[in-house]
Amino acid sequence: MMFIDPHIHMTSRTTSDYEAMRDAGIVAIIEPAFWLGQPRTETGSFKDYFSSLIGWERFRASQFGIKHYCTIGLNSKEANNEALAEEVIEMLPLFVAKEGVVGVGEIGYDDQTEAEEKYFRLQLDLAKEVNLPVQIHTPHRNKKAGTIRSMEVCIEHGIDPGMVIVDHNNEETVKDVLDRGFWAAFTIYPFTKMGNERMVEVVKKYGSKRISINSAADWGISDPLAVPKTAALMHERGISAEDIRMVCYQNALTSFGQSGQFNESDWLNDVPIDQSQRFSGSSILRGGQSPDKNERSNIIR
Ligand SMILES: [Zn+2]
Repeated sequence: MMFIDPHIHMTSRTTSDYEAMRDAGIVAIIEPAFWLGQPRTETGSFKDYFSSLIGWERFRASQFGIKHYCTIGLNSKEANNEALAEEVIEMLPLFVAKEGVVGVGEIGYDDQTEAEEKYFRLQLDLAKEVNLPVQIHTPHRNKKAGTIRSMEVCIEHGIDPGMVIVDHNNEETVKDVLDRGFWAAFTIYPFTKMGNERMVEVVKKYGSKRISINSAADWGISDPLAVPKTAALMHERGISAEDIRMVCYQNALTSFGQSGQFNESDWLNDVPIDQSQRFSGSSILRGGQSPDKNERSNIIR
């Protein structure tokens, strides 16, 4: 079975993650622009980060046989640094127009402040203008209220709910999101929040229509194999292969495919891995390693 992880921050992950993801059947991923843990103090840091999402990280993924796409946006947390936020907003139109950018994201609310609201709205207008899907980060605190508010603001800005992927749902938010016609994405975290046991129950209750899952793996405790592992658990618990395909592959493809930048043919007709390739003169090989052209494992066992 092929999988898509439509929310994963590979910038924070390792080459062995890429290898394990490929081995588990992940063919394509979307990396949303987000907060790096260390708050940025310069606009140039955003510029270089956005450039790496469409440049270096895409190249790095390709060296492990995975197609990499991204969404570009100003994250809600750093929207609270208004002086910086103004400059980042000005730079966004340039980046959302780049090849392989499948949406504006991840944007929305963190603490639900006025500044977050202002920059969320500005970015919704941008998404509408360039006709790209919106990937919404819903807050971890006051989740239900924040999720509903996010959707209401989208509607106010004349955005079609079918163009909006609302992320980090749980049992309390899913019904509202589906009833209003938005896509409901779920982040599967190990140990806490939305675990995969709970996800199985959500799919049993709500079915597979407009529901997708992701790992949101980043620099925190998270699992880059959350999508294939949850698929395996769904299978074990009697969910049909078609429902699993919808939740772990097709719905991500259909929703972000509306960008015109996310096509199945990209990975179905892909060329074999060639690790002798270089990006701006750099390759992923270290100290005399030879290029992998035959699926050899890079992990020292
Ligand atoms: Zn994220």
